[in-house]
Amino acid sequence: AVDQLRKPEWLQKKITPAAHAEMEGLLKELNLNTVCQQARCPNITECFRQRQATFLILGRACTRLCSFCSVSKETPLPAEQGEPAAVAEAVCRLKLSHVVITSPTRDDLPDGGARHYAETVAEIRKASPATKIELLIPDLRGDLEDLKVVLASEPDILGHNLETVPRLYAIRSGADYQRSLKLLADAHRLRPDLKTKSGLMLGLGEEEDELLAVFEDLVAAGCSYLSLGQYLAPSRQHYPVQRFVEPERFEMLKEKALLAGLSHVESAPYVRSSYLAERYLAATPSP
Ligand code: SF4
Ligand code: SF4
Repeated sequence: AVDQLRKPEWLQKKITPAAHAEMEGLLKELNLNTVCQQARCPNITECFRQRQATFLILGRACTRLCSFCSVSKETPLPAEQGEPAAVAEAVCRLKLSHVVITSPTRDDLPDGGARHYAETVAEIRKASPATKIELLIPDLRGDLEDLKVVLASEPDILGHNLETVPRLYAIRSGADYQRSLKLLADAHRLRPDLKTKSGLMLGLGEEEDELLAVFEDLVAAGCSYLSLGQYLAPSRQHYPVQRFVEPERFEMLKEKALLAGLSHVESAPYVRSSYLAERYLAATPSP
């Protein structure tokens, strides 16, 4: 592992909490959670200034224990009935043209939260029909019926992050590389017109040939979009960063992912799956 406290010069982004006050007020008023706040995302000042946020539905607590993730490990609460409408209200008040919705993994719910996702899409469509809706879903334990419920709500992008290469899946407790890949493949098979998207964190100890194999797996699963960003450990208790990947390497990997057949790739140290999310569809307009 590298010295966690000595970040290279390309990882010195500053957070300016004063710039978030208005956005945080609205989120508090509507009792909504965001990944931006929960995951202490380094892009928060930039995104909130541009009125972009990624909503975290289904509570703040996760039933999985990924050792790189800062989402709360307390006992999850039942889904909030009013949450889909509250997200829709926030989308309207923030005048979002593109919204990303995600959740922790809810293995405790019989449908993994699929209906709650579908209701959230329905409420946003009703309130703001022009807004593009991107869902970043958990693996739903590979349940095809739950996936169908989510797909039937007709999001514009369906994302599911592989996060890392198969050899390192021990840090994603409860997850399974093949099951995650199959979820993307199933989504593409059931809705070939829907764009699917995945994301990987770099700096966890992965090798280049392993990444290239994942790019090929994604293309074979019909996946269109990919985000590549630097993993940053949320605290000393989390999985340590193994490498600070140089910006040039991100560029090189982007080229390789495009060569493998992905249609749009964002790749840079500060890229997160929801960062500049509106760029993907814009770069590949529907026929
Ligand atoms: Fe939020 Fe995504 Fe922006 Fe991070 S990159 S602040 S999670 S919208
Ligand atoms: Fe975090 Fe997702 Fe893992 Fe839960 S499943 S601990 S939200 S990365």
